[in-house]
Amino acid sequence: MMQILDGKALAQTMQAEIAVRVADFTAKHGYRPGLAAVIVGDNPGSQVYVRNKRKACETVGMESWLHQLPTDTTQENLLKLIEELNCDAHVSGILVQLPLPKQIDEPAIVAAVAPLKDVDGFGPESLGLLMSGQPRFVPCTPAGVQQILIRNNIRIEGQHVVIVGRSNIVGKPLAMLLLQKGEPGNATVTVCHSKSRDIAAITRQADIVVVAIGQAFFLKKDMIRPGAVVVDVGINRVPDRKQPVGDVDFDGVKEIASAITPVPGGVGPMTITMLLHNTLQAAILQHGK
Ligand code: NAP
Repeated sequence: MMQILDGKALAQTMQAEIAVRVADFTAKHGYRPGLAAVIVGDNPGSQVYVRNKRKACETVGMESWLHQLPTDTTQENLLKLIEELNCDAHVSGILVQLPLPKQIDEPAIVAAVAPLKDVDGFGPESLGLLMSGQPRFVPCTPAGVQQILIRNNIRIEGQHVVIVGRSNIVGKPLAMLLLQKGEPGNATVTVCHSKSRDIAAITRQADIVVVAIGQAFFLKKDMIRPGAVVVDVGINRVPDRKQPVGDVDFDGVKEIASAITPVPGGVGPMTITMLLHNTLQAAILQHGK
């Protein structure tokens, strides 16, 4: 029977588990783990994302702070704020919401976040550790995708996983994560992108297909083999639909997939949950269990 991989329910379960660990930490250390979010400018998407992340922090008993800077903030001012947050012992994790305005050198800002507070996992040290097989902070969306597979008892080891999309925040780190030697990795991973030839011929070979490209309804039913597991990372706004849609043609693909994540309610809630997980891990790494 086809299984809907319910990311929303899993997120609630995992957030309840995290809340217990946060309460333990707080009782032991006398303060709550906390996430400092930085937004530069008034991008409405960024405001919504950060609001949801802060709400989730409250749900699990963490502290959260918002630093809202004007669009014309200079690189120097932003670096100064990050340095203050790096030095603040009560700030466990720092999240700089991307994208940043064009006068800001984004890689330099990402690299300025203290490695032990890099809860997004985008900094060079976090990525290097993941690449070398000693992950510390795994980027949240790939970590969420992996948890959806694990917690639904979907085998990863030895499976052919085809990932469509090679961004630094989803496709590439997910490939590294599932390729890790040892469980829960050991997958055979293929990564496709906009220059790949005949993507359908590649996705049809997959046991697990993950699509993260930002194109509504891209993956059609004739692009997978019967029984494949399909994970839809996409979040796309389309005319005449109140809710966002994914990169997968859900209604068609669900007819032949063995399991599929919905949009909304699939990968999205798990991304936020893994941010909470990373923030608690950061607090523990800095101050002990
Ligand atoms: P991105 O940085 O724009 O990267 C898109 C990737 O898809 C690129 O590697 C691009 O190839 C590839 N691509 C684009 N069109 C393609 C096509 N027709 N065929 C094959 N490959 C194609 O996007 P992103 O930040 O990874 O995000 C992807 C989607 O996931 C978006 O809808 C985003 O909103 C969503 N997302 C969701 C979550 C969540 O929590 N659920 C988190 C992050 C992102 P090139 O490299 O060749 O350009």
